[in-house]
Amino acid sequence: MSKPNRVPGYMQSKGNRNRGPIGDREIRYKCSMTNTILDVLRARPGWQEVAGPNVSAQQQQQQQQQGATKGSAVSSTQQGKDKSGSSQNPAPNKEPTNTTTSFKTSDGDWDFFWCDREWLHANYDSMFLQEHQKILHFRNHYELTRKNLMVKNLKRLRKQTEREQGKKEAESFDFFPTTYELPSEYHIFVEEFKRLPGIIWIMKPAAKSQGRGIFLFRKLKDITDWKKGEYQPLTDPNREVPETYVVQRYIENPYLIGGRKFDIRVYVLVVSYNPLKVWLYRGGFGRFSNSRFSLDSIEDTYVHLTNVAVQKTAPDYDPDKGCKWATQQLRQYLAAKHGTEVVRKVFQGIDNIIIKSLHSVQKIIINDKHCFEMYGYDILLDANLKPWLIEINASPSLTASGKEDYDLKYGVLNDVLNVLDLENRLTGKEKRVGGFDLIWDDGPVNADDGSMECSINSSATTSNSFLGCYCDRKKQLRDIFTAAQALKKTATS
Ligand code: ADP
Repeated sequence: MSKPNRVPGYMQSKGNRNRGPIGDREIRYKCSMTNTILDVLRARPGWQEVAGPNVSAQQQQQQQQQGATKGSAVSSTQQGKDKSGSSQNPAPNKEPTNTTTSFKTSDGDWDFFWCDREWLHANYDSMFLQEHQKILHFRNHYELTRKNLMVKNLKRLRKQTEREQGKKEAESFDFFPTTYELPSEYHIFVEEFKRLPGIIWIMKPAAKSQGRGIFLFRKLKDITDWKKGEYQPLTDPNREVPETYVVQRYIENPYLIGGRKFDIRVYVLVVSYNPLKVWLYRGGFGRFSNSRFSLDSIEDTYVHLTNVAVQKTAPDYDPDKGCKWATQQLRQYLAAKHGTEVVRKVFQGIDNIIIKSLHSVQKIIINDKHCFEMYGYDILLDANLKPWLIEINASPSLTASGKEDYDLKYGVLNDVLNVLDLENRLTGKEKRVGGFDLIWDDGPVNADDGSMECSINSSATTSNSFLGCYCDRKKQLRDIFTAAQALKKTATS
């Protein structure tokens, strides 16, 4: 198998921008993951994998094995499970995998590193990043991705907004359910609990994911076991401080389709916090629960938690049917039922959540021009079609649950690389790159022509936001690469 043809403009724009040493040479990358992202990186024309002491032992071993079979096609699909033990990705069939992989041992010798959060925490402070290097994650990304800190930061900005701009403006922050951190805010929570008798609360470990450790309750006595420490993780018997939880008002009236609850996964790429620059991906999916919604059985996680990791363990889970809908399908369904104007407002509400949440940490995140973040937002709609922020992930799952899911993730990740543009193929002025639309560039970004971009968008749309809209990313990429190349040629001639 040979490498795919080079795209227009590829490595031909040397000298157009000050990019350090990357110009007419290959781009060297490292990757801590063995899922879809590795497939994407390996298939990328002109990108070359490098190894080094900072790659995990398991991965180095894999790389050595691949080195031994250098010249044969190797993709992550053939490497078994990812770190979380999830199932393998289905084989890619569209964009062929890179076949020639060679390794360098020098650790500073990379341009791009898709690292895991643990690696970044352990190494960032002692690391000097060179001009040309790009790395996943900002140093303190957890300010937004730990459930307790996210709420703390949002509450702070809401207070500040109320002080400076008044109550009405502060109401635009009413998109996260009432939340308290436990054990530190236990007493305030109890007061609120007594003020609102009969409602349902949800307890969530602040730093866990995939639905682990979550439970719902109606009575205070239901958490006495938790208070006694029964819910402390058994894996860590030496833990000195109790694990931090958040207790949150449970959304009892979710919007249902076919009687089932769902939440929406939204991909957001932040390439800079100062100035804030945010890209929103058009695609995504709704994750449905396997069982019909009811408040009669609040202990049933298959009814109340929409995580795929939870749902796929349900005894009647059908892997062929899965539990996902593309966001486009979801948007179309809602538009057919409620009209385009209502749906436009719903999706505007999701934009508001994204921008407000990023603003809430803008001054706290250690901005670094070498860093970027690809967030997975989880949004729940209630029966009134109000969007609620459930949580924000800095490492959204990149392991695919099926072919469609694989294609989606493959496209998102490829477009992350397209936006970052290490190849220097773009002009830097694009408002759309593949499936990503620039929604914030130190201020809101207006669409050139919203109605043309999204047939179900109302013509009233001015914001450059097209979540759930039509997305012919490959054609759009070809067009912008060609246009940028032509522009650069004219500029140099
Ligand atoms: P995790 O990080 O473990 O996935 P989440 O906060 O995303 O934790 O919660 C897991 C799932 O539980 C969500 O996907 C959603 O279906 C449900 N859920 C969480 N919080 C609420 C809430 N306040 N109201 C209704 N459902 C919720």
